[in-house]
Amino acid sequence: MGRNLLLEGVNAAYSDAVDRLGLDDNIRVLLDNPEREIMVTVPVAMDDGTLKTFRGYRVQHSSVRGPYKGGIRFDVNVDLEEVRALAALMTWKCAVADIPYGGAKGGVACDPTGMSKRELEALTKQYARMMEPVIGPQIDIPAPDVNTNDQVMSWIVDARLHTGALWARASVTGKPISLGGSLGRREATGRGVASVALQILRKAGMDPANCTAAVQGFGKVGSWTAQYLHEAGVKVVAISDISGGLFGKDGIDISGAREYVSRSPSGLLEGYDVSGLQRITNEQLLALDVDVLIPAAMEGQLTEANANGVRARMVVEAANGPTTFEADRILNERGIPVVPDILANAGGVVVSYFEWMQNLHGAQWSFDDVMTKLESKMTKACNDVWTVSKEEGCSMRAAAYMLAVNRVAQAAAYRFSL
Ligand code: NAD
Repeated sequence: MGRNLLLEGVNAAYSDAVDRLGLDDNIRVLLDNPEREIMVTVPVAMDDGTLKTFRGYRVQHSSVRGPYKGGIRFDVNVDLEEVRALAALMTWKCAVADIPYGGAKGGVACDPTGMSKRELEALTKQYARMMEPVIGPQIDIPAPDVNTNDQVMSWIVDARLHTGALWARASVTGKPISLGGSLGRREATGRGVASVALQILRKAGMDPANCTAAVQGFGKVGSWTAQYLHEAGVKVVAISDISGGLFGKDGIDISGAREYVSRSPSGLLEGYDVSGLQRITNEQLLALDVDVLIPAAMEGQLTEANANGVRARMVVEAANGPTTFEADRILNERGIPVVPDILANAGGVVVSYFEWMQNLHGAQWSFDDVMTKLESKMTKACNDVWTVSKEEGCSMRAAAYMLAVNRVAQAAAYRFSL
C-alpha cells in the first residue's frame, strides 16, 4: 500500500492538537488506533452471469462520545487507509459540531458508473447483510457519501428489515423522505458549507455580496454549496466536475447548471453549453483569482505541487481532506486561511443527527425547523473554532482539532477515569 496523504494529514492534525492541549499519553493510547476495522469480500452475481467479488470496509474509529457515525463510499480508489482516515475525520467532525456521536466510515472498492442498478442493489444489500452485526441505531449509523445516495440507503434499510433488525430505519440516515428521511438532509452539507463560508468571510472583514467563488465538484455537496452561495449574493464564477469545468466572469446560472446535471444521463456538466461561459480544466479552476475557493470533490486536490499557484483569498474545504498536509502548510505560510473540512462540511452529519432523532421519536420536523436548527449548530461551531484560533494564534484547522480532541478527551477522562 502506498503513502496515504489523507491519513497522514488527519493523523498529523490530531497529533498536533494533542501536543497543543498538553494531553497526557493515555489519550494517544486510546485514540491513536481505530476501535474496530472490518474488511469483507462481497460476492455479487453480475448481469452477464459471472460472480464478482468486491472488497468492502467499515472502520469504527471512536465511540467515546456516542454511537459511530459516517458515510459509505462507492469508488474505485477506496482502500483500508482511505476509510481509516475518513473514519477519524468523522470523530473530530462530530465533536466540532458537538453532536453525540463518535466516528466511522465505510466503503466498497467498485466502479458504480460501470454497474447496472440491479448489480448495485445486490452489492449494497450483500454489504449491509455482512455488516449487520456492527450496524444499528445505537451502534453505528451509516449515511451517503461519494457515489451513494438515498436509493443506496433505502436498500440498506430493506436488507436490515429482512434480517429482523430493530429500528432499521434509524440505522441509516440520508434516506428518502418517504422512508423516514429528514426534510433538508439533501441540501444540508452544501447549506452548511455556504453558511460557514459566509460567516468566516464576514469575520475576516469581507462582504459576501462583493465576493467571487469557484467550486470544484458539482455533486451532492458542490451543487448545493454553489446554489446557496449564489442565493446569498456571492458571484460563483466557476464550477466543475470530473468532466471538467466552466468559467464565467459575470457569474454562472447555478440553478440552470443544476437543472442540466439532474437531467443529463451521466449526471455531469459535460455538454452544458451556455454563451458567456468558457471551458476550463480542474487545475485551472484551483488557480483562479477568486475570493473563495471551495474544493467539493475528492481528497488530495490541493497539493505541494499546486498550492503555490492558488490565488484565492480563502479556501473552504467542502470535501473531506482536499488539502494535503504540505499544501496546508504552504497556504498558511502564504496567508491564505483554510476553513477545515471538519468544520466546513459538518452540516451533513448535523442533519443526519436530526434525522436519527426524528426516527427515534417517530417525528417529522418541518424544513424551516431543520434549517433553523442547522444554522444554529453551524454558527456555534464557527464561533467556537474562530475563538480558539484567535486565542491560540493558530490556523482554523489547528483550532478545530483542538476543540474536537479536547471534547473527546474530556468524555474519555470520565468514562475511563484517565
Ligand atoms: P458526489 O459523488 O455527489 O459528487 C462528487 C463530485 O465530484 C461529482 O461532481 C464528481 O464528478 C466530482 N469529481 C470526482 N472526482 C473529481 C476530480 N478528480 N476532479 C473534479 N471533480 C471530481 O459526492 P459528494 O457527496 O458531493 O461528496 C463530495 C465530497 O464531500 C467528498 O469528499 C465527501 O466525502 C464529502 N462530504 C460529503 C457529504 C455528504 O453529505 N454527501 C458530507 C460531508 C462531506
